[in-house]
Amino acid sequence: MPNDLYDVTIIGAGPIGLFAAFYSGLRSMKTKIIDAEPAVGGKVRYFFPGKIIRDIGGIPAITGADLIANLKEQAETFHPTIVCNERVVDVTKLSNGTFQLTTQNGTIHFSKTIVIATGSGTFEVNRLDALHAENFPDAIFYDVKNLEQFRDKVVAVSGGGNSAIDWAHTLEPIAKEVHLIYRGEDFKAHEERVKALKSSRVQIHIHHEMSALFGINDRLTATTLYCNQTNSTKTISTDALFINHGVKVDLGTMAEWGFTLTDFGILVDDEMKTTIPGIFACGDSAAYPRKIRIIAAGLHEGPIAINSAKKYLEPNAADEAMISTHHEKFIH
Ligand SMILES: Cc1cc2nc3c(=O)[nH]c(=O)nc-3n(C[C@H](O)[C@H](O)[C@H](O)COP(=O)(O)OP(=O)(O)OC[C@H]3O[C@@H](n4cnc5c(N)ncnc54)[C@H](O)[C@@H]3O)c2cc1C
Repeated sequence: MPNDLYDVTIIGAGPIGLFAAFYSGLRSMKTKIIDAEPAVGGKVRYFFPGKIIRDIGGIPAITGADLIANLKEQAETFHPTIVCNERVVDVTKLSNGTFQLTTQNGTIHFSKTIVIATGSGTFEVNRLDALHAENFPDAIFYDVKNLEQFRDKVVAVSGGGNSAIDWAHTLEPIAKEVHLIYRGEDFKAHEERVKALKSSRVQIHIHHEMSALFGINDRLTATTLYCNQTNSTKTISTDALFINHGVKVDLGTMAEWGFTLTDFGILVDDEMKTTIPGIFACGDSAAYPRKIRIIAAGLHEGPIAINSAKKYLEPNAADEAMISTHHEKFIH
C-alpha cells in the first residue's frame, strides 16, 4: 500500500539500492525501493547488461544482467516492497518528522527515513533519430545480450567513447567485419584500449559520420559515410549498426529537495548523512572526497547509509547489522 509508513525508503533500484535493501532487511527495517525505470538494475541494466564486469571482489567475471539478477534475488531475501515505473519528484518532511515522497504519477509514499541511491539521476541513451533510422528497427542496436547474432556479419559501430571502443573490441572476434565510425580524431576512451583497437581487425573511419542508411525493405544493407575533413563520401556495406552517441542524464527535481549538492553529487559525511537529517545517500549519487564511482565502492556505502538510518530511528541500536554468517535469518 503506498500509504503504509516504512522505516526506510530507498530511492533508486540500481545495484547499490538493491544491496542497501538487502542490508536493511538484515537490520529488520520495513523497506521500500522506488525506481523510475520499468525494472531494477540501474545503469547496469540500462547500459551494459551484456558486458562482463571484472572489478568486484570475489567475482572474477560476471555479465551485468547476471549481477543484477543476483542482487535482486539477494534484495528479495527480506521481502522489501519494490515499486518500479515511479519517479520521485518531491520529498517533503512533515511536521511529525515523516517524509512524504511524491512520484510523477501523483502517488504519495510515507517513510521515516530515506536513502538516496539515484546514481546520476534518470537516464536515456541518445538514439539515432535521423537518417530514417526508424525504417531499420531490427538492425540498430544500443546494447545486446546475444552476440552470436552478429557472427560472420558486417557490423558498424558509431561513436568515439569507451562504450564504442568496447563494442568494437567485443564484436571483432565474432563479426566478419567491424567498422568504427567517429566524427572526431581523438577517441575519448582508455588509451590502452584505443591502442589495441588500432592493431586489431577493426576498420577505423575517423573524421566520418553517417549521412545515409540503405536497405531492402527493413533489412539494413549499407551506410554512407561523410568525411568532415574532405567533404567526400563513401558507402560501406553493413548488416547492423551499434550507436554509442552518449546519454542524457537527468537529475530532475532533486536539486530542489534541499540537500547540499556538489558538482559530483549529493554531499555526504562519513556516515553517508546528507545535510537533511533523516536522509542518507550512497552509490553514484553520493559525493565525498576521493569518491570512487564503481559498484564495489557503493556496495560498502549502502550498508553505512542503512546503519545511519537505523541509528537515526533508534539511537541505541547496534552500530551495524549482525554479519550474515551469524545472522538469525541464516542460522536455521
Ligand atoms: C558504460 C558503463 C560501464 C560501467 N562499467 C563498470 C564496471 O565495469 N565496473 C563497475 O564497478 N562500475 C561500472 N560502471 C559504473 C556503475 O554502473 C555504477 O557505479 C553503478 O551503476 C552505480 O550504481 P547506483 O545504484 O549508485 O546507481 P545507478 O546504477 O545509476 O542506479 C540509479 C537508479 O536510480 C533511479 N533513479 C534516479 N532518479 C530517480 C528518481 N528521482 N526516482 C526514482 N528512481 C530514480 C534510476 O532509474 C536508476 O535505476 C559503468 C558505468 C557505465 C555507464
